Amino acid sequence: MTVTVRFAPSPTGRIHIGNARTALFNWLFALNNKGRFIQRFDDTDIARSKQEFADAILYDLHWLGIFPDATEYQSRRFEIYDAAVERLKAAGVLYACYETPEELDLRRKVRRTRGLPPVYGREALALTTEQVAEYQADGRRPHWRFLLPNFSGDPLQPERTEIRWDDLVRGEEMVDLASLSDPVLVREDGTYLYTLPSVVDDMEMGVSHVIRGDDHVTNTGVQIALFKALGAEPPVFGHHNLLTTVSGEGLSKRTGALSIESLREDGIEPMAVASLAVLVGTSENVAAAHDLTELAGHFDPAATSKSSSKFDPAELFVLNRVLLHHMPFDEARDRLMVLGISGEQAEPFWLAVRGNLDRLADAVAWWRVLREGPREKPDFSDDDRDFLHQALDLLPEEPWNGTIWKDWTGKIREATGRKGKALFMPLRLALTGLPSGPELADLLPLMGREGTLARRP
Ligand code: GLU
Repeated sequence: MTVTVRFAPSPTGRIHIGNARTALFNWLFALNNKGRFIQRFDDTDIARSKQEFADAILYDLHWLGIFPDATEYQSRRFEIYDAAVERLKAAGVLYACYETPEELDLRRKVRRTRGLPPVYGREALALTTEQVAEYQADGRRPHWRFLLPNFSGDPLQPERTEIRWDDLVRGEEMVDLASLSDPVLVREDGTYLYTLPSVVDDMEMGVSHVIRGDDHVTNTGVQIALFKALGAEPPVFGHHNLLTTVSGEGLSKRTGALSIESLREDGIEPMAVASLAVLVGTSENVAAAHDLTELAGHFDPAATSKSSSKFDPAELFVLNRVLLHHMPFDEARDRLMVLGISGEQAEPFWLAVRGNLDRLADAVAWWRVLREGPREKPDFSDDDRDFLHQALDLLPEEPWNGTIWKDWTGKIREATGRKGKALFMPLRLALTGLPSGPELADLLPLMGREGTLARRP
């Protein structure tokens, strides 16, 4: 059987790092098992779902290196869900309910005061034909609940019914169906809640492994029952822990917190995002993987912690620096070109500056410094100015070889008696305008003799 996974966000906003974790867990699982990855948009909520969000999610996934084998939209599959509804009705496990939200609320309160669990008491099963006719005459339309298989004879007498599965992440899991309300599958207006379309699609699309956040553990109990009611073998389930902000808040698509888009705009490399999104909250060391194949080698769903993990964006910058410091020119070339960095100097320039970058785009500032000189002319003491004049007078003629920096500073040392910081700092300031940065030995050849002399204070 081909391993088939799916990533199933609702296209109601931009995806954040927590959603990326789910997408990547699925993608890496598929990679490691030569499987298929289906991108499924759970857009049954027509009012809140937008095509522009679906497009943006696909863009974010591509940026991370995820290229789905298929893309599906639930909003185009209503007929398939309608057919499943008919089957459930025919099997007598989908029943009509007429309560308003206020009535349900009141009933829950009453149950609580009686010490009963605040679950739906299946009152609709006891409605007489006259009562139903009355509701209908009042213009009430039914919503439809799935009768959970948690009773032996009388549905009004639910009994403890354990649904068990071996979770890919969490190991042995169990949900007691008697602790749950019969879920509403279809609303009054005929629209679908998430539960049924998800199960029907997982069946129809041959999904073998459902990997998602642990906020869905309880749903899994219900969904396993629904798979069985529809005559299907449930897939394997895995529920990973959720990420929170450093202050412990959950992430939300709506607030845009830690959205992939904002991280990209901040200049974070996709592999920094992917490495942290996958490895945080697992027993693996968080280190920057060079690509998703390498990351897949460190991915083991069972190594994921069961409690939620804090996600610290500062760690992204640490990983970003590591990735940039080792990035070969071939990988950076096109992106540098877009930033206006090209020509035969582009490669030696990249190799000279990459070790100093927080973001790739920071290379532009260094490129300008090399081309145009320091942004602001530094203020030198008379002493330093004399020293710099003397130093520049000693600059060897071109052509230069690989030891030009060493040769030149050797001469300066000899002639001026300066060494260490007293020698290097004024040179660095005169050449770059900044007190720190890439090795001057690498920058000097890029400035050339003329460029260097033009920096005379
Ligand atoms: N649309 C659901 C969500 O975003 C999908 C859950 C699932 O993977 O089944 O939470």
